[in-house]
Amino acid sequence: MLLRLQKGLLAEQVEAVLALARELGYRTRFLDERSEILLLDGAGRPEHRSKFEDLASVKSVLDAGDARERHERDGRADTVVRVGDARFGGGFVSLIAGPCAVEDGDRLVDIAREVQRLGATLLRGGAWKPRTSPYSFQGLRAEGLARLAEAKAATGIGIVTEVLDPRDIAAIGEVADMFQIGARSMTNSTLLVEVGRTKKPVLLKRGLQASVREFLLAAEFILAQGNTQVVLCERGIRGFDTTTRNLLDVGAVAHLKRATHLPVIVDPSHAAGRSELVRPLARAGLAAGADGLIVEVHPDPSEVHSDGSQAVSPETFAQIVADSLVIAALDEKRVVLPEPVRATR
Ligand code: PEP
Ligand code: MN
Repeated sequence: MLLRLQKGLLAEQVEAVLALARELGYRTRFLDERSEILLLDGAGRPEHRSKFEDLASVKSVLDAGDARERHERDGRADTVVRVGDARFGGGFVSLIAGPCAVEDGDRLVDIAREVQRLGATLLRGGAWKPRTSPYSFQGLRAEGLARLAEAKAATGIGIVTEVLDPRDIAAIGEVADMFQIGARSMTNSTLLVEVGRTKKPVLLKRGLQASVREFLLAAEFILAQGNTQVVLCERGIRGFDTTTRNLLDVGAVAHLKRATHLPVIVDPSHAAGRSELVRPLARAGLAAGADGLIVEVHPDPSEVHSDGSQAVSPETFAQIVADSLVIAALDEKRVVLPEPVRATR
């Protein structure tokens, strides 16, 4: 590892850095006359980089050497995350679709059947909803979970649903095939650690104002627990312009595909905020290299309590599926379709 120390440090401040290096098993050597560039020679571990970054005397880690963090690509092949029929990464693209929230009424089984028929391998739908206002619909919670279980039993489709509170992990894990950590929870390290401990696949959404580095370190919390089944989701970040709900950061998608071995998917719905923009953003995300999409789909958005304006119709979702087949093929990737659809294409 190569460190740049702050200029003009006192001898005891330099000694504190050297002491930590020795404690972690490194031999040390300054590469310059001013004793600012410090080479650490020895076997690095993923947690070492942060230990040095936390020291006030260290200006920056110039090269982490083999103290690579767990998310880093570092020449590794893609991690492939399998969830039910779905596969993300390693040349596989999968599509997740469904309502924003599980709502009252008996629509969910029909929606599950419809999106599965059209090409989704996983059903999305929040039972616990993270809302900006405490007065907005907060989700049907345990009842919503029961409805997700019903949709799964009726169709066999895998379930992706959000967990907001570590205390709900066990109950949600009975039904969910993949935990969703929403944008508002990306910095909740307690929650990240606890879903990490389950070893169940996790869909981690980028925080509204999170840098790419912060996003990757959130993933690192899960990986550090030994859970390698993490799928990153770019869902748009806050921009200055309110024309779209969020700014879909396709540059980050292209970057992440190079910087990490983890699969990356795009949520065009929360980026767009308007149904007519969802399909073009879905195309952009896949063209930037995404390994999948998560799309809010509802046959009658006028009846829903959450995110109705960005829900696309099943017909539009069918077009998104057709686009995905074409765009994935450009990158020599394959869209994984549910068994009944595969048989007819
Ligand atoms: C959602 O998926 O419905 C959701 C709330 O997403 P996000 O956390 O990205 O805002
Ligand atoms: Mn939503």
